[in-house]
Amino acid sequence: MLKSATDPKSIRMTEEEGYPSQARGMLYPEWGSWLASVNQPRYRAGHIWDWLHRKKIRRWDEASNLPKKLLGQLQESFGIYDPELVRVEGSSDTTRKFLWRLEDRANIESVWIPANPASFGKSSSRTTLCVSTQVGCAYGCKFCASGLAGWKRDLDASEIVNQILAVERWASSQENDKKDEVSADAEKRRIQNLVIMGMGEPLANYDQLLRALRILNHSEGIPIGARRVTISTSGLAPQIERLAKEPEQFRLAVSLHGATNETRSKIMPVNRKYPLEKLIPALESYREERGKMITLEYILIAGVNDHLQEIPHLAKLAKSLNAKVNLIPYNRVDGLEWVRPTEERQELFYETLKSAGARVTLRREKGHDINAACGQLRLKEEGLGK
Ligand code: SAH
Ligand code: SF4
Repeated sequence: MLKSATDPKSIRMTEEEGYPSQARGMLYPEWGSWLASVNQPRYRAGHIWDWLHRKKIRRWDEASNLPKKLLGQLQESFGIYDPELVRVEGSSDTTRKFLWRLEDRANIESVWIPANPASFGKSSSRTTLCVSTQVGCAYGCKFCASGLAGWKRDLDASEIVNQILAVERWASSQENDKKDEVSADAEKRRIQNLVIMGMGEPLANYDQLLRALRILNHSEGIPIGARRVTISTSGLAPQIERLAKEPEQFRLAVSLHGATNETRSKIMPVNRKYPLEKLIPALESYREERGKMITLEYILIAGVNDHLQEIPHLAKLAKSLNAKVNLIPYNRVDGLEWVRPTEERQELFYETLKSAGARVTLRREKGHDINAACGQLRLKEEGLGK
């Protein structure tokens, strides 16, 4: 009898062989070597890839053109677990927030943003998905819901990839009500840009993130090019330097939130490990290696980092890095006392920074009414932070 695809024994078996236990976590070339190892022709890699990433199957037996023997081998070796949709919330600006339950019942979230925020490239008419990379986060930024609940585990590559596929599948089911069928419509591309800004610190889960992005980038799959991916980090300097040397041209956003060590350390414990003296050289090397504009994210929190004394430091930093500053009004988190500054204060900060010569945008809020900020939906679901 065949083992079920999610049987822990079959998962162990594939791990011993050095392959991921989940099929959607396999890189394209790995399929070729796995097929050779089970005496199957390598050209089947293309068929398997097509079923997994274009047709987005949920069970191996949906892959109707694969021979029975190969299907049996696949079933024994790889799961194709999909996240369970716990809930989807909509907001008045058509942003949608998805809360997923994973195989171990951990919750993660993704946010679908129909028009790309102006701050992330030229493609403003394209759909963007914001994805999570960890369950919770270990970095404990004082203002952040994900940090509040602590770190539970890293996501594996398949769990990152699945967020994109599951949202695209959900979108096609909304359009034609064919939830359980593999239809041509399931192949329709809906997401063009990714922002790695959901729950978790992406660069603390570096290998699985890069694996996922390479799977998503493959020309015969989804494919989302590196230039359409923005990775947001709280500032892990060594990993930023490592990312600078990768062949792909990812966009980088850094959660700065303070332009002096004093302000930054108050709200971001990571600044004690990687203070500005370490972070700035890493950003410089990213810019030099990549020749890409970096985005400095700056949440405006009333009375914490919205004082005008911060501006000369912020302007100097942005100019020396040739970076753009993205000002984001703080989103309230239940259980935390932080609040966003008044609109007048936001405007004043924006105008003063602009006059100081920095390239700056003030984010027009998307999804504010559905708690779209980092980790907030999961928090609500699990009753934390109350
Ligand atoms: N860990 C990474 C990516 C996930 S957080 C990082 O810190 O960059 C994505 C962005 O959401 C970060 O800029 C983070 O500072 C911001 N954020 C967190 N909580 C927020 C809130 N309540 N309101 C507005 N932005 C928030
Ligand atoms: Fe983690 Fe980013 Fe939230 Fe900080 S802001 S706690 S790094 S998810």
